[in-house]
Amino acid sequence: MRAVTSDVRFPTARSGAGSDAMNRDPDYSAAYVALETDHPEGLTGHGLTFTIGRGTEVCVAAIEALAPHVVGADVEELVEDLGGSWRRLVTDTQLRWLGPEKGVIHLATAAVVNAVWDLYAKLERKPLWKLLSDLTPEQLVACIDFSYIEDVLTPDDALELLHRSRAGKSEREATLLRDGFPAYTTSAGWLGYPEQTLPERARAALADGFTHLKLKVGGDLESDLRRARIIRETIGPDNRLSLDANQAWGVQQAIEAINVLAEVDPWWIEEPTSPDDVLGLARIRDAVAPVRVATGEHVQNRVIFKQLLQLGAIDVCQLDCCRLGGVNEVLAVVLLAAKFGVPVCPHAGGVGLCEYAQHVSMFDYVAVGASLDDRVCEFVDHLHEHFVDPVRVARGRYLAPTAPGYSIEIKPESLAEFAFPDGASWWSEEVPA
Ligand SMILES: [Mg+2]
Repeated sequence: MRAVTSDVRFPTARSGAGSDAMNRDPDYSAAYVALETDHPEGLTGHGLTFTIGRGTEVCVAAIEALAPHVVGADVEELVEDLGGSWRRLVTDTQLRWLGPEKGVIHLATAAVVNAVWDLYAKLERKPLWKLLSDLTPEQLVACIDFSYIEDVLTPDDALELLHRSRAGKSEREATLLRDGFPAYTTSAGWLGYPEQTLPERARAALADGFTHLKLKVGGDLESDLRRARIIRETIGPDNRLSLDANQAWGVQQAIEAINVLAEVDPWWIEEPTSPDDVLGLARIRDAVAPVRVATGEHVQNRVIFKQLLQLGAIDVCQLDCCRLGGVNEVLAVVLLAAKFGVPVCPHAGGVGLCEYAQHVSMFDYVAVGASLDDRVCEFVDHLHEHFVDPVRVARGRYLAPTAPGYSIEIKPESLAEFAFPDGASWWSEEVPA
């Protein structure tokens, strides 16, 4: 097996799309890896980790540092022991110092691990959600690293949860294939969008079938409230409106701001403060109920999620498929959330995150959480045209992917055009918005 890496950057900053309180000018990017094999069908596994511009080259370098753990490996052997493959990557005796299990090295781990799972799903000729749903509880548990979470979730607990969720599984799969999985949209409410455009954007979201919208806050509080009122007035009392502060506030400031914004009846407040402040998030949650607290896109590993859940600091688990160390660690967090009865509503958007996240939501519904109650997967309508198997969203729902793999393969022509810094889009005068 060979690993071919790419630094891919889309010049999104110019349109204001993707802007929030902390990330004002994101150029949605990916540190991307293709694991090429000698398999007779020419199978290649694809994985990426999401970045927002400068620094993508650092992630690419980290992927290259990890690559020797898979380069030259036999594909069948690699996927036969996915738990062991993950352990080898995260316990590299020298690279581990760079984390452990956090930061750039963990983002890179996710790209490689997800590429291995993409390859596995392609070998099995199943979309990833279906591959995971069809694994036995024992096979799934064998993929999970229980170190540092075993005090709260043992392999036996996980097995019991998974066995319990087997009841009704085929009915849920049929429902999923028929109806899709509920999505909510972030596209109407970026912080950089002028106030006067919000009603039209919110109406367009409702017309597309969404019943749950999200608005970026964490700017000037008066302006946040004004913008939130506009969206609430436009969508009426029965649709859901969530707010996302992207870590803009300190703990006390968050409590005060949310108490003001409570006027618009938010469904959740997302990332009110630092994702590492487990105690602070717990305090905020106590102070702002019944507004739910959501976080996860920057929660770096299963250990922090364990603490957030243990302390009752979050109502919504927004795990990210390439912030955590790829599918193996996502499985751990999905099971932790199920144990605490907290719904998983994965973080998505960016580039490729919707393609990833849909699989996790669908697997969770079919085989773990076994419910659609308050489960919703984020949707942002960006950059899907660059993927070979893009998400399909209709009437506010993700339709279940059917092509084998993890849906993360980028079209070769897009890789060429948006490669940084040599792709045509980076030196032409006419940069696409
Ligand atoms: Mg967010």
